[in-house]
Amino acid sequence: MRRVCPACGSGEKTRLYRQDFHNKAIALMENYDVVSCARCGFVYADNLPSQKEFDRYYARMSKYEFNFKRGEVSGDYLAHFEKIVKFLKPYLANKKISILDIGCSTGALLSVLKKEGYRNLLGLDPSAACARSAAKLYAVKAIAGSISGFKPKRRYGLIILSAVLEHLVDFAAVFKKIRLLLEDDGLLFIEVPDAPRFHKYIFTPFQQFSIEHVNYFSRASLINLLGRFSFKPLAMKKNENRVNQTVDPDIFALFKKTEKHNFKPSKDRVCQVSLKKYIAASSRLDARVKALIRRKLSGKGKVVVWGVGTHTQRLLGAGIDLSRVEFFVDSNRRYHGKKLGGLQIRPPEAIKAGMPILISTYSFQEEVIRQIRKDLKLKNEVIKIYE
Ligand SMILES: [Zn+2]
Repeated sequence: MRRVCPACGSGEKTRLYRQDFHNKAIALMENYDVVSCARCGFVYADNLPSQKEFDRYYARMSKYEFNFKRGEVSGDYLAHFEKIVKFLKPYLANKKISILDIGCSTGALLSVLKKEGYRNLLGLDPSAACARSAAKLYAVKAIAGSISGFKPKRRYGLIILSAVLEHLVDFAAVFKKIRLLLEDDGLLFIEVPDAPRFHKYIFTPFQQFSIEHVNYFSRASLINLLGRFSFKPLAMKKNENRVNQTVDPDIFALFKKTEKHNFKPSKDRVCQVSLKKYIAASSRLDARVKALIRRKLSGKGKVVVWGVGTHTQRLLGAGIDLSRVEFFVDSNRRYHGKKLGGLQIRPPEAIKAGMPILISTYSFQEEVIRQIRKDLKLKNEVIKIYE
């Protein structure tokens, strides 16, 4: 599907990069184009499946259920959510304010708000398992479903969209619904990756152009997009999101619902330039990673590859040699029994003693090694890509 610019509606664009996953089994699409809007400068992924197909994918393949840890998030996530609540608190003097977290995952952010004394909390998530976990882990009410299908009983003082907008193909219907859900003068909190800083935080090549992230926001493009739906910025803050070994640049932004007005987008001249730097630096790292994998696998028999996420799918798209791979392993149950590059994806328990394990993930590398040694008690050779 061809997209028009979500921030200004223009169909004119330039292609900056093509991200290739070489796989439709678990990725939804073979590839997409990263393009920049000629009118307003917003950078987004083009040539995508429809929003409906994405909705089905999230309901089916959610990574956010944390199902391999019974829904509990790590301390890193909790620390991150505490930062969000600290940013919001000056604007939330009334503890009775009704708060709706859209895309609430297992409810950890709502649990931090609950600890701070807020009581009118509701979560919404496409995954039923996430909604159940929120109730079980934190006694926080959450409903399984999409924004479009949500039938509210009331309006909300604050709506939270944390790590949601970068996933959306279609904004118009979502913001129309959010305006209906919000009280007059209601607040909208948004957290998105900060694209103009991507090139300063490269850990793996092209990690920001993931299977699921299809919009690359800057402060200016966020203001353009929200202005289009008559939201006014109240506060913005640059932040670093640390989870496992990865540090991602992101933006915290608070907007206020206003009366409809004629908003004129201003041109964002920064994002495209920074993303070109990001693409060039990623290409250089990509060449190094591929050479390293070739070197580390040379002279070895068959190996198991642990991890089937964006990192692995990109390597497949870049034409990595699969003849040495016996099968793939991933902790996420949703992937088990599916195939990648014609090879089975199996649970960690399927690894036999003696088979070398190539770890194809950056952020979970140390966690995977811990699982291999401590949980599975395997002495197999572990091949790391990142030191
Ligand atoms: Zn535009």
